[in-house]
Amino acid sequence: MRHLGKPQQDPTTVFLRCVEGVRDSELKERFLRVAPDIGAAAQVFDATAKAGRLYTLEEHKDVAGQVTAREMSDLYKRRMARSGSAGRRVYDALMLRAKGICPLCGHLPVSTLDHQLPQAMFPALAVTPTNLVPACGDCNKWKQDAIPRKAEEQTFHPYFDDFGKEPWLHAEVVENTPPTLRYSVRPPASWPAIWGARARHHFRTYKLGRLYKTQAANELMNMQHLLLGLQEKAGVDGVRSHLRSHEESCAKANPNSWQTAMYRALGESEWFCTEGLVQLRSLAV
Ligand SMILES: [Zn+2]
Repeated sequence: MRHLGKPQQDPTTVFLRCVEGVRDSELKERFLRVAPDIGAAAQVFDATAKAGRLYTLEEHKDVAGQVTAREMSDLYKRRMARSGSAGRRVYDALMLRAKGICPLCGHLPVSTLDHQLPQAMFPALAVTPTNLVPACGDCNKWKQDAIPRKAEEQTFHPYFDDFGKEPWLHAEVVENTPPTLRYSVRPPASWPAIWGARARHHFRTYKLGRLYKTQAANELMNMQHLLLGLQEKAGVDGVRSHLRSHEESCAKANPNSWQTAMYRALGESEWFCTEGLVQLRSLAV
């Protein structure tokens, strides 16, 4: 859930740019007729997203009874997402804002733009920059066409939502052989209750627990040689101190990455620093 700030492209200008290349003159005329509706819908969307009330927006089958959802979806695909199309520069500029990493999961590489509100139900927002969020293939796939029906069903919107830097991602060590990590959302006391509910919904929607658990298992495997060596040379205190410095370093980069939560959980787990490591040793043999 990484905040990116709001893109500044004017939605009507972007829409008209996409429409420029439409060859069917009757369709083009209908597109031009709804340009004011596109601008108005974008304004309402921005104000509603800023207020955390996207669940209150009504679905539409078309734009002002003139342009169908299918026609808007084609406009997005052919005139914005397609390489070399008139709107592709806007598409690329939006993708670049994520600096390569999906802001929804904070881990996988960005590969597409995801409609925060699906274009099938909100066709007037099909090419609106503030409704187009850079995402990885998995996050795009998990959300599909889900729309929020109530406040707590709103997933994080990287352009409008900023849940701050306080730690909210929690990991705990599962005392298994081999040891594993279990992730969950633990909202800070300073958060309004709705943020906690939304963060939990976001976490479930994008299956972040599964993603982070898998990454952590791999990281633990890579660390096992180092930690076992440390245990031999510097004892349990040496292991704990190493884990804490690693946590501090990761937290400087991102207090809510799976790595920060993982190193904190390992360093704080008496079981991991003693028994858990013994189990790693038996696996390493
Ligand atoms: Zn993602």
